[in-house]
Amino acid sequence: MDVAIHDGEDVFAKPKDKWTADGLEVTSFVFENAQETEDLNIFSPEMVYQQFGETESIFGYDNLSVRLHFSDVSLRFWPNIEYKQKFKSQDNEQGADDIIAFLCDKLPPDQKDTMILNRAKVAKKQEQFKPFGDMIRKLAVGNKEFEIYFVNKNSRTPESDRFVERIQHLGLFYIEGLQYTDEEDEMWINYFMYEVRKSHHGDGKTHYAIAGFISVYQFFNYPESRRARISQVLLIPTYRNLGLGPHLLQSVYRDLWSNPSIFDISVEDPSDNFHFLRDYLDCSNCMKLEEFSPTYLKKGFSDSLYQAALKNFKISKMQCRRVYEILRLKCTNEKNEVEMKSYRLDVKKRLEIPMRQKEKTWKKMKKTLSEDEYRQMIATQTSKEQKLDQLKQLYEQTVEPYYKTIKRLESYPLVMDEFSFPFEPYDIQLNLMRKIRECIEAGEIGIFESPTGTGKSLSVLCSTMTWLEEHERRKIEELEQRLASARTQSLQQEDRDDWIEAHRQKTKAQEEENEAMSEMERISRVTERLKMAKEGLVMENRKRKFVEDDDETVAPLQEQDECAPNDGYNSDEGSSTKIDEDVEEPLETVKIYYASRTHSQLEQLVEELKKTRFRPRIVTCSSRGTLCTNENVRKLKLNHLINEKCMELRRNKPSGEKKAKNNEKETKRKCASGKSCDFYNATQIEEVVNGILSCSTTATPQVLTKGKSVGGCPYYASRRAIPLCQMVLLPYQVLLHGPTRDAWGIKLKGNVVVLDEAHNVLNTIGALYSAEVGSKSLTIALKLIREYIDTYKLRLKAKNLLYMRHLQLVASSLLQYLTNSKSKEDEVMTIQSFVIKLNILEVNLFKLAAYIENVDLCKKFHGFYLRSQRNALNVKKENEKPKLSGIAKLMQKKEEKPTEREAEEPGLIPQALPSPLYSLKSFIDAMTNKCEDGRVLIERTAVNGPKARYILMNPADRLSEVVDGARSTVLVGGTMEPAELLIETLSRGSQKSGVKRFSCNHVIDDNQLLTLAIDKTVDGKIFQLNYQTRNDKQVLKSLSLTLNALLPQLPNGVVVFFPSYDFLFMFQKELENFGILNKMKEKKAVFVESRLPTSDVWEQFVRTAKTPKGAVLFAVVGGKLSEGINFSDELGRAVIMIGLPYPNRASVELREKMKFLDSKVAGGGAMLYESLCMHGVNQAIGRAIRHRRDYAAIFLLDERYAKDSVRSKLSSWISGRLRVANGFGDVIRSTKTFFSTK
Ligand code: SF4
Repeated sequence: MDVAIHDGEDVFAKPKDKWTADGLEVTSFVFENAQETEDLNIFSPEMVYQQFGETESIFGYDNLSVRLHFSDVSLRFWPNIEYKQKFKSQDNEQGADDIIAFLCDKLPPDQKDTMILNRAKVAKKQEQFKPFGDMIRKLAVGNKEFEIYFVNKNSRTPESDRFVERIQHLGLFYIEGLQYTDEEDEMWINYFMYEVRKSHHGDGKTHYAIAGFISVYQFFNYPESRRARISQVLLIPTYRNLGLGPHLLQSVYRDLWSNPSIFDISVEDPSDNFHFLRDYLDCSNCMKLEEFSPTYLKKGFSDSLYQAALKNFKISKMQCRRVYEILRLKCTNEKNEVEMKSYRLDVKKRLEIPMRQKEKTWKKMKKTLSEDEYRQMIATQTSKEQKLDQLKQLYEQTVEPYYKTIKRLESYPLVMDEFSFPFEPYDIQLNLMRKIRECIEAGEIGIFESPTGTGKSLSVLCSTMTWLEEHERRKIEELEQRLASARTQSLQQEDRDDWIEAHRQKTKAQEEENEAMSEMERISRVTERLKMAKEGLVMENRKRKFVEDDDETVAPLQEQDECAPNDGYNSDEGSSTKIDEDVEEPLETVKIYYASRTHSQLEQLVEELKKTRFRPRIVTCSSRGTLCTNENVRKLKLNHLINEKCMELRRNKPSGEKKAKNNEKETKRKCASGKSCDFYNATQIEEVVNGILSCSTTATPQVLTKGKSVGGCPYYASRRAIPLCQMVLLPYQVLLHGPTRDAWGIKLKGNVVVLDEAHNVLNTIGALYSAEVGSKSLTIALKLIREYIDTYKLRLKAKNLLYMRHLQLVASSLLQYLTNSKSKEDEVMTIQSFVIKLNILEVNLFKLAAYIENVDLCKKFHGFYLRSQRNALNVKKENEKPKLSGIAKLMQKKEEKPTEREAEEPGLIPQALPSPLYSLKSFIDAMTNKCEDGRVLIERTAVNGPKARYILMNPADRLSEVVDGARSTVLVGGTMEPAELLIETLSRGSQKSGVKRFSCNHVIDDNQLLTLAIDKTVDGKIFQLNYQTRNDKQVLKSLSLTLNALLPQLPNGVVVFFPSYDFLFMFQKELENFGILNKMKEKKAVFVESRLPTSDVWEQFVRTAKTPKGAVLFAVVGGKLSEGINFSDELGRAVIMIGLPYPNRASVELREKMKFLDSKVAGGGAMLYESLCMHGVNQAIGRAIRHRRDYAAIFLLDERYAKDSVRSKLSSWISGRLRVANGFGDVIRSTKTFFSTK
């Protein structure tokens, strides 16, 4: 211990003042790190009464200095005490204070080693310090980097508890009344902020220094949530005045916001400084909310303000009132006396409340005291004038800090939280979010590439939601301005001499005012509706509408033949039986449509959203198969059957009017007998809608549970909630397929569309609008059509009978064309040529398609088909030897094999088969596309018999329906490159000019990725794998030897991608023949992807890749493992791409598509060809790096990867790091070096 003692003269005199030192003045701190011990700043404590008593004085030393040297990591310290003289009393009764004993007394319990003797030992330990708990944020302030961690009951350790105590020991010098907390109590959460420094030794190592600390205690809040109370806040003196406080507190806020069990956040006994910080942050956050806009603020404090602050930022009611007063003062014009007076009165009214409480007490006293006693009491009290004075003073004291906060808000707007990103965003994330916001605001189309692992989904969510919040807020401000300016305009006309012009201008202003007013009215109706949703009220008029809808569709049950034609149809008028359309335009709000490929991706998005502070009204468009709550319908399993059954049950639902006509018994009977659906009930459905609109149900499973619990259909509730939701999650097919979009009531106008994983978008549109029909289903359909006409021809009107005849003609001509040709060649033709070849020119395909759709012919045929089957089964029961006739007999012959599940559950077979008319209908629908947009492909040698396919050549028009309909479209994906084809398609179809492009780099450092183009094999041969060389045994041998040489250098899991299954299997065979496979197996376990389901191979690979020996997986580009599978960490320490996976040029479909594109744009076909190949490469190699801390090597085996033309089509984060290896020796050396540093 460095304690300098200077024993001076023996003093026997009475203590003099020189022996009493002011503890605050003589105590100082320095914070030392292992690398710097000189030129350190000296800091003073703010209080020392905990150590040196209430008087904060130290007795017995002349010229005393107590310097505490703290380690800036562990906060252990060593004191350095210096003085000129030490007091010694004559009788030895009063000696100098024992400073060390005083300091020791306040050390953390059981941690006396906090004060240390061996400084060198601490310095060593400092270097090895690693933060406790989990990192929640990383940020840079000035030229310093910081990380914030949190430790809760799950991550606390004895060491982290001891660390907290040492921080609290330092806090004794800074925080009034601080006490050590009981870390055993599981309700504590501790947050630590560290500065992260690079080692001065240049070894790339990182050192930490503690910069700040916040402890939070969680109290139970009845019935099941918690209230978070910020208890201790300490910024280490070295880090004060750097602006770190807002960062630290906002990070803690964010963490608490994202914790669903926390109800609100309060602060224990805040100091003035903390009040200032908290006000600044809370005001900055609330300023983003519409409820805190000047218009709302000037209306006074209300519950909606509090609810908004609570919902978004978990701000308590008392603090919300404070925020309101600050922000209202901020937007009050102080020169306007009326405004100022209104503000003063509002604040004073609040301040007066405790005084009024006192008045109540006085009244009580008057009742209980005698008159004399009461007079005496009054004499001691303040007069009314004095009270007013007090109130004035109180008001001034209250608003004084408000002005300070306002000044800070104006001088230093909170830019760090531009998008409320839950962590400190990296520059690339911030740029991406800014670009997306700009794109939406400008109403443009944007293509954004953000590699996996860079927080793409969070960036998209935060940027779109931030834009939406700003947009909603701006909208109201604009409307108010419009209204005010229209009114001023109108008033200004009063005094004009030119009364004709004045009248004209006044009318114009009046129109403007009416327009703004009606828009305002619409907004307030939305607000009212949302308020009702929160209060759980069911709208009466909606309830009525459901009933009306039902009335339109209900038919007498007893007379109903479900297969009989609906002969009310008139092709010239269209259908009169649309059943799910709102009569009046529903209330709508601006929204983000977020489309992704699969429902699981959408569910993940809901989880991501929970990490942010945004709590939009959100709904997912799931099918009836997912959302249906009627068990009898759900068990049908197949979507089309569930849909049909649901429609049928809804039609059978008795109307309210009929119920009123004493038909209740009948109603119950229908429901109980399964002829209607109890869940299709207006009141209960509205309850589920209210859950969605009040944000209490966000994910599909929650909507389902709510539907089950209240007895309302979640599917119809989801549909009805869409117009008022702020975010609608939907699978691609709902957004990109026009009829499905319309069926869901998706309105794009004025809204934003986000297409995730958008590299798939053109393929998806192609698949959605393509159709095929085979000879087998055509045969069944034709028979059915004939029997149907025979059965119902007397009930069909002449015109509708004609449609049925046309349908029969189309089916028979098509079947003949497929089966009667002697040619075995495939054929491609336009729709026009096809119609001519089929000789069906007299058929109006548009009208026929409309007829099939509007009279629900597929459903009727399905019923007809099932009836035929039932009849057939009955006949079978009656006769030992089944004598099936007609259609049933034919169907039995022609039916495709049942699926495995169907075979296990024979009862399902009749229900599970779709109506044979479906595929014919889809094909006829497809034939109504523009002639030049598609081709008909006749495949005569297809495995299941000849078939006709319609292929959409031109997805541009379909895509433009979406992008032109929406305000802005954001196409985002992990691997969007090469994007030329997409850009070309967008530009060709869309009316909007220009497509914005933005490609993010990766968040990883350069040392986390090794990317090598390998142009020579291990035996020095040029590496080129194309159709000509891939059968060459020498080439295959060189490839085998190269892989065999490379694999031992690669740790854990390695994935090798081949261009096709055929090539992979040929290579596998030769690998065995060359005798290399066994050698390879000695180094790594070998797995090969098969064409069959891969789960077994995948699971075995995952298990083995994590072992020290590791595993290699041979997979195929575009196969089951090249997209959607995560090869993170040990699963993919290296990805090797063999050759360039160009598609098969011999494919008729590809040839036609290329020809079509060539006709549209020069080089269009080649663009498609390149694009298919390079997308495959980017997708496959993009599997390697999956998160910020992942690392991997990528090897591209082919000389063509060294060429700029290929390289430029790789994702930018890969091409920017790509290096061409200088021979195979370089490959091995670079690989060894790369992995040795990991
Ligand atoms: S109304 Fe809803 S619950 Fe009833 S069958 Fe249809 S989808 Fe299922």
